[in-house]
Amino acid sequence: RAKETGKARAVVYSVREEGLPQHDISLEAAMFSAVREGEFLLYYQPIVDARTRLIEGFETLMRWKHPTLGMVPPVRFIPIAETNGLINLLGAWALKAACMQLRQFEEAAGRDLYISVNISPRQFRNDKFLEVLDQALALADLPGAKLVLEITEGTLMVDPQHAETILTRMAERGARIAIDDFGTGYSSLAYLKRFPISVLKVDRAFVKDLPGAHKEAAICSAVLDMARHLDLVVVAEGVETDEQLGWLQQRDCRYVQGYLTGKPMPAHVALTALQDNHYTALLPQDRR
Ligand code: C2E
Ligand code: MG
Ligand code: MG
Ligand code: MG
Repeated sequence: RAKETGKARAVVYSVREEGLPQHDISLEAAMFSAVREGEFLLYYQPIVDARTRLIEGFETLMRWKHPTLGMVPPVRFIPIAETNGLINLLGAWALKAACMQLRQFEEAAGRDLYISVNISPRQFRNDKFLEVLDQALALADLPGAKLVLEITEGTLMVDPQHAETILTRMAERGARIAIDDFGTGYSSLAYLKRFPISVLKVDRAFVKDLPGAHKEAAICSAVLDMARHLDLVVVAEGVETDEQLGWLQQRDCRYVQGYLTGKPMPAHVALTALQDNHYTALLPQDRR
């Protein structure tokens, strides 16, 4: 992520001074009142065991329900929150809410589940981050092992020394680290050796044209092989078809996540799905 470096950051700010499109400025202003008004919510997307087809966990995905604009997607508001620092507040709230929600999910399922939370680069670098993490775990009385923290390759590369310290502290709490959008960042594979990473989330870009696309198939196979040798767990993102799921399952991809096994959904819908434990509870009657 180029905008993480000091030099590129200046570029980002000068673009801002010249003025972003009008709607982005009003969107930014609206975000502050949205925080006060409680317009941000969390959706949950099932992460499914490719072999058993059971829901094993959820990724929390933030939503902004604006009174007149409707649902504002995270690609619109996360970058703004990252720039103005609101992400620290929103991220801390999300982490706490997610940990609490997991308890209710586990109750409905009657078994252990995990929760996966996105951590932005700025949140990761924030001095208070570990404190926030501890508070969230304590508040929900949750063992760290039930938490997966998703970071991108870019987050690691800004300041690898600092990243190593924070990741080690996270691992000490039992939390697992996932590399989100794996394969799309500018980074070397050396970090897989250096940092305590447990999960690779293969980006949808490599999954969406499976099984037909030869290059994508080769990349996915290679990542799965490498992960096996490094003792890493793989989650394939953006799985939309039975063919993709079958292909991934055949190659021992442990987890899948995508519209096939469930779109991001409000907690009460997820709870209903969990009563059946099986992702097919989310499908229309004729597809179960
Ligand atoms: P991500 O963490 O890589 O999340 C996966 C995105 O792919 C989500 O988009 C999800 O809705 C979408 N997706 C899942 N399955 C499929 C599929 O089968 N097909 C297609 N076409 N898309 C699928 P979403 O919810 O719009 O979030 C976009 C990004 O915003 C996330 O990418 C993440 O980087 C960021 N984000 C979302 N929530 C949070 C949050 O609470 N904190 C932070 N820091 N970032 C967040
Ligand atoms: Mg993610
Ligand atoms: Mg992802
Ligand atoms: Mg992605």
